[in-house]
Amino acid sequence: PSAMREVYVEVPAVRWEDIGGQAKVQQKLRECIEWPLKHPESFARLGVRPPKGILLFGPPGCSKTLTARALATESGLNFIAVKGPELLNKYVGESERAVREIFRKARAASPSIVFFDEIDALSTSRSDNGGNSKHEGVLTTLLNEMDGVQELVGVVVVAATNRPDVIDSALMRPGRLDRILYVGPPDYEGRVEILRIRMRGMAVASDVDVEELARLTEGCSGAELTALCQDAALLTMKTDINAASVPQSAFVSAAASVRRQITPDILAHF
Ligand code: ATP
Repeated sequence: PSAMREVYVEVPAVRWEDIGGQAKVQQKLRECIEWPLKHPESFARLGVRPPKGILLFGPPGCSKTLTARALATESGLNFIAVKGPELLNKYVGESERAVREIFRKARAASPSIVFFDEIDALSTSRSDNGGNSKHEGVLTTLLNEMDGVQELVGVVVVAATNRPDVIDSALMRPGRLDRILYVGPPDYEGRVEILRIRMRGMAVASDVDVEELARLTEGCSGAELTALCQDAALLTMKTDINAASVPQSAFVSAAASVRRQITPDILAHF
């Protein structure tokens, strides 16, 4: 019996328009994933090899996962998501089997994306986990699969991490995760976009001023802005369970108490 939950091939429903403030990241991903799949003959003609893998890095809650899902939706790719730590808590040998199984499914579902969230968990960096040989076996299997004993046609690996500093350098060699993209916290314009996206499905009062809220939420991640909208609605209900819409004052109160996880200290690591 496998300790690994079943790996599912999914077709996500996230669109680019559901993600605020990451236009550059989106453009880059289209170039390196969508183009090679849609125009392989152009790459062949010009003699360039499309990237096999991409690493998305950046602070938590800033849309790495969302971006990988939208990429699959928008490029018409099947999607297989795995969290790095999930691969490790297994009996000896089972993690390696799980990795091979993931790639087998990805090939069968090609064109597809295999998304490894928290890829840093597979790092073998000595200082971080004492060179745990169990991790090493998983990483080696992953590298073998990426190097394609069997050619990885139509399978792209997208990995994500909050800790680029501990990623094993073997993963970053050419032909593996050979593109690196920073997915950072939203700037003012990005926050305006994210708040607008979040308010799409909400009943917001006519006095709501998204620009003011974006100014009040400097340093917030997309995940925090999402939580803020939720909090504002709950605050409104607390005052009046029959309220017809969420007023600016509730958003402002929620903004005042939202916890900012991305401190300047954390940001300095990126
Ligand atoms: P982690 O490193 O913690 O896994 P992440 O960078 O992968 O974080 P996501 O899981 O993509 O972040 O984001 C968490 C949630 O926050 C999303 O499901 C979404 O609701 C919201 N969110 C984050 N960034 C954005 C954004 N740019 N636009 C819209 N929603 C966002």
